[in-house]
Formats: sequence, structure tokens, C-alpha cells
Amino acid sequence: MITSYHRPTQAVINLAAVKENIEQTFRQYPDKEIFAVVKADGYGHGAVAVAKTALTAGVTGFCVATIDEAIQLRTAGLVQPILILGLIEAKDAVLAATYHISVTVAQVDWLKKAAAYLKETDSTLLVHIKVDTGMGRIGFLSENEIKQAIEFMAADDHFDWEGIFTHYATADQEDSTYFKQQEKQFSQIVSALPYRPPYVHSANSATLLWHHGCGNMLRLGISMYGLNPSAGVLSPTQELKPAFSLVSEIIQVKCLPAGSAIGYGKTYETSEDEWIATIPIGYADGYMRKMQGFYVLVEGNYCEVVGRVCMDQIMVRLPRQFAEGTKVTLIGKNKGKEITLQEYAEYAGTIHYEALCLFSSRVPRQYIKKG
Ligand SMILES: *Cc1c(COP(=O)(O)O)cnc(C)c1O
Repeated sequence: MITSYHRPTQAVINLAAVKENIEQTFRQYPDKEIFAVVKADGYGHGAVAVAKTALTAGVTGFCVATIDEAIQLRTAGLVQPILILGLIEAKDAVLAATYHISVTVAQVDWLKKAAAYLKETDSTLLVHIKVDTGMGRIGFLSENEIKQAIEFMAADDHFDWEGIFTHYATADQEDSTYFKQQEKQFSQIVSALPYRPPYVHSANSATLLWHHGCGNMLRLGISMYGLNPSAGVLSPTQELKPAFSLVSEIIQVKCLPAGSAIGYGKTYETSEDEWIATIPIGYADGYMRKMQGFYVLVEGNYCEVVGRVCMDQIMVRLPRQFAEGTKVTLIGKNKGKEITLQEYAEYAGTIHYEALCLFSSRVPRQYIKKG
């Protein structure tokens, strides 16, 4: 989707907040390295801008989900280690090696297939072994297979074993029984290794906030963006500063008499003379259709979204007349009031991670370094 710059609707990204969130994590873990997780366009914040800011806070690498996301960072001039957390196709091993991108490996067969491609080249592929300790997603299940993978790599110059890691399923929950089980299994596997690769890692945001997780590197995702991974179930052990806000302006205001219908399907009718404003944002921007009945902030007033959310516009009810061009805050602070992403996501019946990923490329990201 083409980015629409000539419209007052913008995601404002506070890079100073990103930096502070990282610095706080370093204060808690002065001896560990941090890789900034910037998959999905930096959780909707903009991968390159977040990655460059993260560097100024001392991170030493990045994590992404796909090879294209990794190449985007390389193309932007970032030379630090980049780990692809998902699995790539064996035929793309050469591409990853050429760009010095580290890949996640979870099957011995994959190594064999990749070896056939790499054989034709003089490049070396950096590999992190993924252990499935209870997520049921990608990863080796048995110690034996992991040993085979390590031996295979040791015997082939086209592989460089750089890391081993796992991922926890319940690090954001109050009950830590399952977490401890996964942690124990991972440390047993790590202790049984013939030798250790440079990186051993297991911590996402929830793990580093509420547990410890073993290893020497942290994969810092959602809490770098200032959001609580547990959605408020557990309180964060550091102050989290949200970096994302969403703003627009009133594009038209009108006073509609009692009994006027608003929007598709005529789902809202004015009960008296009402000031109705139209805001140029809709579900094509990622402002979900189910947000009807939620609020936006205008001059510090919570104003209800009335009528259905359209593809490109929403209507809101104002407490009184406001001028066209008045600022509207859909997420963030406005005159001492705030709508958090958490509240927005909860209203939509989802989590802030998903809500962030849904804000589309039609919304320009505007970067501020203070705020
Ligand atoms: C996305 C992801 C992370 C980051 O998780 P947060 O909850 O955002 O900190 C870490 N590790 C893996 C494997 C991931 O997929």
C-alpha cells in the first residue's frame, strides 16, 4: 500500500523511548549482549529506524523473522549480526551466507540440503541451533539430533556454529512451573554440549523481565517498544515507555440534528443535536472495524467512535464544536489524558503485538527523538 503523506494521519514513533527502554534493560543485565528484535518492520515502528536507534543504546545485533527483513537491514548499512528467528528454505542458504546473515536451524536434513547449495560457493553460513523445549514450534527435540547437527557442521567448512537457543511459552504468566521445566531442559542440553558456541540465548522480553533465562544474549522485543508483554497480568520490573502513538486531525465537523444516521448500515443514530467529526483513518490503516464504540482523544476529551469504522474514515461524537484541523489522538497522550495500545487492543479482543502489526504502510511513521 502506498504511504499517504499528504494526510494528517501519522504514527509518531518516539525513538528516545526505545533508547531508554534498552538502556534500562542494560542496567538490569550489564553483562549480557542485547539483540534488538525488529521483525515485522520493528513491530510496526519501522525496522531500520528502530535498529539504528538501538545501536546508539549499545545493542550488538538484531533479530528478524525472514531473510528479506534481514536484507533490508543490510541494505540500510547495518553490519552487525542479524539472526533470522524463523526457518529459511535450504535454497536460500547461499543468499544468507552472502549477506552474513545468521540462520536458525532445526533439522539435520536442512543442513544437508543447504550444504549441497553452499558447496558451489566459498561462503560460510552462520548457524544458530534452535531447541524446542516445549513451544511445539520449530526446533530440535532430541539431544542426539543436536549432536548430529553439531558434528555435521564441524565437518563442513561452509558452516560456522554461532549459537544455540530456545523460546519459552509461558514466561509472561504468573505460574512459572512450565517455564522452569523448559528452562531446566534447555540448561541440560547446553551443559551436555561438546563445546559452547559464542551465543547461548533464551530470553525474550517476558523472560528478562520476570525470570532470568540462561545464556549471554537477550532477544529484546516488545519491552524495547515500551509495552508490557504480559498485557498487565504481571507488572514490569522496569519502567516501560511506549514509543508508538497514532494521531490525526478533524477533517470535517458538523452538527447533526436528533435522529440522524451515521455510517454504513445506519448503526448509530443521534439522540439530540450532536457534533460529529470525521477523521481520515479507517480499517485500511489498521484501525480495526471492531473499534466502533471505542474512543479517541480530542482536546483531552474521550470522544466515542460512532457508526461503523469505514475503510478510510471514522466518525466520532464531540462534546462540543471543535475546529476542523484540531488534533485527534487515537493512541497516546492528549492534554493529560491517554489511550494506551493495551486498551485499544483489549477493546479489539486482541494483544498489542497484533494491533501494532496491523497498522498498515498507508500510515506514515514520523520519528521524534524526544517526547
Ligand atoms: C518475537 C520473538 C522474540 C521477541 O519476543 P518479545 O516478546 O517481543 O520480546 C524473541 N524470540 C523469538 C524466537 C521470537 O520469535
